[in-house]
Amino acid sequence: MAVRPPSVDALARSLADTGLPHPLLVDAARAAIADGGAAGIEERARRHAHAAARALLQPVVNATGVLLHTNLGRAPLAVAADAAYTNLELDLSSGRRGSRHDHAAALLARLCDTEDAIVVNNGASAVLLVLAALAGGRGAAVSRGELVEIGGGFRVPEVMAQSGAQLVEVGTTNRTRLADFESAVANPANGAALALKVHQSNYRIVGFTEQVTVAEMASLDVPVVADIGSGLVDAACPWLDNGPPPWLAGEPAARQSLADGAALVTFSGDKLFGGPQAGIIAGRADLVGQCARHPLARALRPGSLVLNALQQVVLAYLRRDGQAIEFWRMASLAATDLEQRAHGVVEGSGTGVVAEMASVPGGGTLPGTEINSCGVVLNGDHTTALRARTPPIIARVSEDRTWLDLRTVAPADDQHVIAALKALG
Ligand SMILES: *Cc1c(COP(=O)(O)O)cnc(C)c1O
Repeated sequence: MAVRPPSVDALARSLADTGLPHPLLVDAARAAIADGGAAGIEERARRHAHAAARALLQPVVNATGVLLHTNLGRAPLAVAADAAYTNLELDLSSGRRGSRHDHAAALLARLCDTEDAIVVNNGASAVLLVLAALAGGRGAAVSRGELVEIGGGFRVPEVMAQSGAQLVEVGTTNRTRLADFESAVANPANGAALALKVHQSNYRIVGFTEQVTVAEMASLDVPVVADIGSGLVDAACPWLDNGPPPWLAGEPAARQSLADGAALVTFSGDKLFGGPQAGIIAGRADLVGQCARHPLARALRPGSLVLNALQQVVLAYLRRDGQAIEFWRMASLAATDLEQRAHGVVEGSGTGVVAEMASVPGGGTLPGTEINSCGVVLNGDHTTALRARTPPIIARVSEDRTWLDLRTVAPADDQHVIAALKALG
C-alpha cells in the first residue's frame, strides 16, 4: 500500500529547526514532493532546505591564499552595525541639510592629499561617471595599449560608449608616445575633453613597448584622469611598519598619481584599498563637483552602510594603522608566523603536513605576483567536503592535493580548519 505523502504545510513545519523562514520551507517541501514519491520525502525536503540555507550570503573561511578573491567578495570586511539613524545628510553643527560626501569622501580627499573626492558604487561606475560628466558628447583620449578588459566585463571601450564620450584612440597597442597624445588632443576633429590613463591591472605588455606616464600626460592641454584601479593609496605605504612590501613594485598609487599631475584618480574600494565595494573619484574640486552634479551621480551613489565601512578604513589609513585594515594585516603577515599556525593546525587535527606555498594579491591586481606563505597540504581533493562545513572552508587543489593557505584565514578561524580536517579523518 502506498504511503500517503504529508501535506506541504506539515512537511514545511517539520523543517522549522533549520531556522529558515516558512515560505522558504514551503518551497523546499514542494521541491521534495515534485522530486518523487512519498518514500524518503522528509529527508529530501531537508536536503532542499539545507541547499536553500547554503545559498544564503554567509561568512566563509578563505583558505585559498588569494587575498582579493572576487568570488569571496574581494577584501575581507567587518560589518557590525546595530539599526541606527546616521547624520548621512545632516550637518550636525548647523542643523541644516548636509551632504553624504562630507564624511568618507572628505576624509578620502585628505588621505589622497587632494582637493575633493566623491564615492560611487564601484570602480566601473567611477570611470563611467567621470567620462559622462567631463567628456559626454566630446572625446576622451586613451592609449590603444590601455583599451583593456578587467575581470567581470569591465571593458574600457564599452564603458566609454555607455558614458556618451567618444573614444579617441591614441598610439598603438605596444607603443604610445606623448607626441601621439599631443596631436590627438590638438586635432579639433577629436574634440578631446580629457585624456584617460588606464592601469593595465590584470596583464602586462612586455618586449618592444612604450607607455606615456601620468607625469608626461600632465603637460597636455586637457585634464588627465588616471584610472589606477586597485586603490593603492600611497606608494610609501606609511600604514605598514616595514614600508611597502616588495610584491607591490610598480603598482600606481593615488597620492603619487595626483602629485604627478593627474586631475582626477579613480579606484575601487575593495581591492588594494581593503574596504567595501565602492568606487572613488578624487582630485580637482571643480572636476569632482562636475561629477557630483551629473544626474548619474544620483544613480550611482552608495548608502550609509558602505560609506560607514569606507570611513572606518580611511580613518585607519589616516592613523597609519595597517593592522586595522584586514587586507593589509593579512598581506603583511610573516611566513614564519603562518608556519607556526600551520603546525598548530596539523597537530590539532592530526592530518596533513605543513608546507610552504604562495599567496597572491588577486582581484585582477598585480598579475604574476606571489607572496611567500605557509599552510597545510593534504593528499587528494577534499574541497567539496570542506565547502560543506559550517562555516564553509574554501581551499585550492593542485596536483591532486588540497592546499590550505593560512595567510587568508583569520587566526580565530584556525579552530574551524582544525575541526574540518579532523572530520576528514
Ligand atoms: C578593477 C578595475 C576596474 C573596475 O573596478 P570595479 O570596482 O571592479 O568596478 C576599473 N579599472 C581598473 C584599472 C581596474 O583595475
